[in-house]
Amino acid sequence: MVATSVQINTDLAFQRCLAPDCGATYGVDEVRTSCDQCGAPLDVAYDWDKIEVPDSLKFFESKWARRNEPLCRSGVWRFHELFPFAPPEKVVTIGEGQTLLHASDGVAKYVGLADGGLYLQYEGMNPSGSFKDNGMTAAFTHAHTIGAKRAACASTGNTSASLALYCGVSKLMQAVIFIGSGKISYGKLSQALDYGALTIQIAGDFDDAMQRVREVSQQLGIYLVNSVNPFRLEGQKSIMFRVLEGLDWQVPDWVVVPGGNLGNSSAFGKAFMELKELGLIDRVPRLAVINAAGANTLYELFVKRGQRWNGGQLDQHVADKYVEEMDRENRRASTIASAIEINRPVNYEKCLRALEVCDGVVREVSDQQILDAKSQVGANGLGCEPASAASVAGAKLLRAEGVIAPSERVVCVLTGHQLKDPTATVAYHTTDQEEFNRVLGSRGVKRAEFANRAVAVPNDLDEIIRAIQLNS
Ligand SMILES: *Cc1c(COP(=O)(O)O)cnc(C)c1O
Ligand SMILES: [Zn+2]
Repeated sequence: MVATSVQINTDLAFQRCLAPDCGATYGVDEVRTSCDQCGAPLDVAYDWDKIEVPDSLKFFESKWARRNEPLCRSGVWRFHELFPFAPPEKVVTIGEGQTLLHASDGVAKYVGLADGGLYLQYEGMNPSGSFKDNGMTAAFTHAHTIGAKRAACASTGNTSASLALYCGVSKLMQAVIFIGSGKISYGKLSQALDYGALTIQIAGDFDDAMQRVREVSQQLGIYLVNSVNPFRLEGQKSIMFRVLEGLDWQVPDWVVVPGGNLGNSSAFGKAFMELKELGLIDRVPRLAVINAAGANTLYELFVKRGQRWNGGQLDQHVADKYVEEMDRENRRASTIASAIEINRPVNYEKCLRALEVCDGVVREVSDQQILDAKSQVGANGLGCEPASAASVAGAKLLRAEGVIAPSERVVCVLTGHQLKDPTATVAYHTTDQEEFNRVLGSRGVKRAEFANRAVAVPNDLDEIIRAIQLNS
């Protein structure tokens, strides 16, 4: 398909402005985060006629048998034919995306679905412990093809952990990460430090860090891997390919995902849009994007102000006005789900498109709902970090509203591993009321209905035995 001398597949792929009435195109060998002509974000697009696309998704099953080849072992690059912007020999993979779809009747019961109706796509099992590796391998590969030597991102923690890991393993680039001070969980910060990233801690929050990293990377010519980077979303499409694979290539009724910077929801919408266009699926699932109530820009704009993609004819004024208002009142995102504690989602427009393609809905859930749902995910065997549980809390809400029917098949994406943020978990289960109040009470969390509390006993054999008998 490609000669080995080719650095990047400029013949098969290009970048295209998201605004349909502009549609300007750029090469995939260029580094851009927005359209020169109109400022809109960019998509990676393909000349599908020139690409050997398999006739059926079943084709990808054969790759399981070739897991000694790096591109088949990766749960992302196994689907290379569906985002062939880079030649295989340029791909940088560390075996990301080996994640599975798990049916969970325990969580189904909590959500209000029939047995067999609820699935958890457990992205916490990625090498750095979150779904971010799916996108990072793609952006990193792009950075490598164009010869970048440094890569930067602003992060609530997981993007930086992922970037730091790819830099650490491959030694192809130096990682420069920007974080807001006091806004990152120890699990995530420890990863960036341990993997050796240059870590810049800014006195500010994620949105401040995001703005600065854009300025700095432009001035110093550092490759930016935040999800404004269109290549990341290409890798994240594979999460949905694996969901379909887990369902024997059947399309679920719903995909439910937490919404932060809205990269995942955007990537999922693009994945289904392309699969439908290519005739590889016959219908698309409905998409539910779940905000934390303390970081609910998408909810405010989509639900309260009724903003829609409208085939690309969206009234940018509505979003601009909202953000201005937020700035004027100095309203800042605040939620225990730190991975989605974001005021200004950079993939907002792309997410609106995904919501249109997938007949989507948006909801917000409180920190209380998030932590209760998280405890149920944990109690049923797959732990997750708080942000991830927004998907389960959202599914439960939509079920209660009757938007999701009891017999429907629902996939909730668990975006990050439980060990990313043990502070929230321990505070939920603690017997120490002060600890509970300090970590969770300040977030409006009033009770821990599903807490599994440690039983405190004196160091005495009889007392220990009595405690076990009393509690089992
Ligand atoms: C980044 C992240 C999110 C938010 O995903 P977006 O694609 O930015 O909406 C949710 N959960 C976890 C664990 C994350 O790391
Ligand atoms: Zn444009």
